[in-house]
Amino acid sequence: MTDPGRRAELAASLEQVRERIARACVAAGRPPGAVTLTAVTKTYPASDVLLLAGLGVTDMAENRDQEAAAKAAEVHAAGVHPRWHFVGQLQRNKVRSVIRYADVVESVDSLRLAGALAKAAVGREVPLEVLVQVSLDADPARGGVTEDDLWRVSDAVASSEGLRLGGVMAVAPLGEDPGAAFARLAVIAGRMASEHPGATTVSAGMSGDLEAAVQHGATHVRIGTSLLGMRNSLR
Ligand SMILES: *Cc1c(COP(=O)(O)O)cnc(C)c1O
Repeated sequence: MTDPGRRAELAASLEQVRERIARACVAAGRPPGAVTLTAVTKTYPASDVLLLAGLGVTDMAENRDQEAAAKAAEVHAAGVHPRWHFVGQLQRNKVRSVIRYADVVESVDSLRLAGALAKAAVGREVPLEVLVQVSLDADPARGGVTEDDLWRVSDAVASSEGLRLGGVMAVAPLGEDPGAAFARLAVIAGRMASEHPGATTVSAGMSGDLEAAVQHGATHVRIGTSLLGMRNSLR
């Protein structure tokens, strides 16, 4: 937790990522600060979360419940309280665990999952923020709803008492220019914000394509590798 070498390493990569975001904002004619950095800390220890929080990162993301639950508990015990985003495929039997620590679930892509979250979130003091994950390539293996289902899922989330519809999330398809995909997302996000005022979050952009995402209106970028280093596994 007090490893000065790791702290310096993270400080340097964080500065680079922040510069990339700032340059992308300028290039897009968007105000600096229009984009929130979410650090994707999967596979990295709670000590890295604490260091990033100490460097001013407010939002952290995880994609597996078991790992996330333990890490969030460790971070909480250290008296540090980032905003936790869940960004992985979520099975309904994990919903009760996830909503104990998550502030935002970004990967909601079915009515059944929205229903399970709604049921588990009844009576929450602060509503759980939900982003609907949009498929930009209709490949079901990568998660996300098609545009037809998007409105059904969004309406279900918006009408659930313990949930707050925050907006949309997407991952750029493989083998396509991310700019073209994020341009489609921007159209969907615009329609979302007009049908559901307040649902203005656009979570898009990872280490390899954050510039394209910012160009097309991302409000949140999810950065793992460029901040924390290469992961051993492909997740
Ligand atoms: C792992 C992951 C990221 C971060 O990807 P990098 O390429 O390491 O920046 C972003 N979003 C989701 C949904 C992820 O699973």
